[in-house]
Amino acid sequence: MKSILRDTLSSYINALRPIIYIKHFDNQIVDDLIQSVLTNGVKCFTFTNSGCFIDGKRIDNEMTIDSFLKNVCNYLETATKDNPKHAFVVLKDAHRYFDENSQYFNMKSISLLKEIARRTMFSEEVYATVFMVSPVLVLPQELEKMITIFDIPYPDSEEVAAIIDDYISSYNMDINDTVKNDLIISFKGLTEFEIRQILNYAYQQSGTFDASSVKLVLKEKEQIIKKSGIIEIFPTNANVDDIGGMSNLKKYLNNKAQIFANLGMARSFGVDLPKGILIVGMPGCGKSLTAKATASMFKVPLLRLDIGKLMGKYVGESEHNLTAAIKTAEAVAPCVLWIDELEKAFAGIGNNNGGGGNDITTRLFGQFLTWLQEKESSVYVVATANDISKLPPEFLRKGRFDELFKVELPDAEERRRIFQIHLAKRGKLTPNIDVLKLISTKKDSKSITKGFSGADIESVVKEAIENAFCSNDGDQSITTDNLIAIINNTKSISDTLKDKIEKLREEYKKYNFKDASSNNKKD
Ligand code: ATP
Repeated sequence: MKSILRDTLSSYINALRPIIYIKHFDNQIVDDLIQSVLTNGVKCFTFTNSGCFIDGKRIDNEMTIDSFLKNVCNYLETATKDNPKHAFVVLKDAHRYFDENSQYFNMKSISLLKEIARRTMFSEEVYATVFMVSPVLVLPQELEKMITIFDIPYPDSEEVAAIIDDYISSYNMDINDTVKNDLIISFKGLTEFEIRQILNYAYQQSGTFDASSVKLVLKEKEQIIKKSGIIEIFPTNANVDDIGGMSNLKKYLNNKAQIFANLGMARSFGVDLPKGILIVGMPGCGKSLTAKATASMFKVPLLRLDIGKLMGKYVGESEHNLTAAIKTAEAVAPCVLWIDELEKAFAGIGNNNGGGGNDITTRLFGQFLTWLQEKESSVYVVATANDISKLPPEFLRKGRFDELFKVELPDAEERRRIFQIHLAKRGKLTPNIDVLKLISTKKDSKSITKGFSGADIESVVKEAIENAFCSNDGDQSITTDNLIAIINNTKSISDTLKDKIEKLREEYKKYNFKDASSNNKKD
């Protein structure tokens, strides 16, 4: 991996890319990388907020960035045909000087950088590469076209293994292979710096590495991924038995879970790598619940991506954020990546009537779609949406998701199951309750719970339990009649959102979605 990285960086330098932006927080790693591509005869100017250096020798502690860049320009100016100038210009913590909102920002530095870049591009005697190094991405608009973003990927399995080996040999430790393999898998998606920090912490806790260290890594990793703010690990206990109904969808996901559990074997058998599913459907009917349960079924972590959070204020920042999010997910893979309310994230794109789309959203959409289409990693995407009229139609074409599922309001049998699940979950599924009555008792010739969503049913159960707890007559039991009384006083989603539900249903008919429930729904 390191040699690929070095070769890529060298090829950018040889191709005279004038400014290379390296987004990384670990200056040591960046220094090592730059040193590895530094060749004889290249003068290395380095600016840091604690001083300036030429070829590693400190030349000044107080110099401003303008004066520093001016010095570089002066040096390059002396280039002649017989005496060409080769230089690296390393600007550490570049965001401090090139973010318009920073107190250190000034336009002069931008002009000077442009001058250096222009000389490199148009003068045959100058070969200068500027490295902007920063833990955050700040791309000044004036320089955007001259900048190449260089990503340092996370260490791969071999490199992680080497880091662990290095650590254990320096502490003269012995660890068993299973623990080591588990550590390698759980360190995926972290930088070398983070891995070493966690190893230190784990070692301090128990003086060795064992199964508890692996747990600790996962806890620490949650923190790190949370801090990135772009993607979050979503802890969940939901599992497939928490879902009432949706037998087709559950069966489908069970098959995918088998593939996920035996990816290597499945791939060599010729099975395609599962991409993911889109679940559209009525509000409160278990779409999010299914996304969460998928992660448990697959026995992998659940990551949630909020596309809205990717939007940045700098040119290119949003796209970079999406790349970073995808990179994190791929590094953590195998995992489930849940994207809630997909239609809101990409509203207004394409020729549908969402309105409000803009260039950034359109670019993000294109980037996301390409990734989805070409994805070769075991990141299983579960996207959920209500209103498909606002969803770019591209998502609904074959090739993007493996399958499109539609979730309707639960039928009688499904409602019975959902009542049972929510009563049982709270330890209240007792012989006092005849669940069948909750779906068969009629009002105006239809079942009293017809048109209830899963969320409506859950709220009925919660209210009954709350009432029982607060009852004054000393009897805290819950009966069928208690539940029926609450049901009769509850306005279901079909009452409160009648028009919307009708509209959604009409929209769904236009597409060839698979039914999440069994094919013969009965009310
Ligand atoms: P929205 O489109 O509004 O986000 P959703 O379809 O994602 O809704 P969920 O958030 O999954 O709905 O469901 C809301 C709550 O209702 C969940 O906490 C879950 O407990 C309950 N629920 C919904 N459907 C079911 C179901 N089929 N089985 C069990 N519980 C359900």
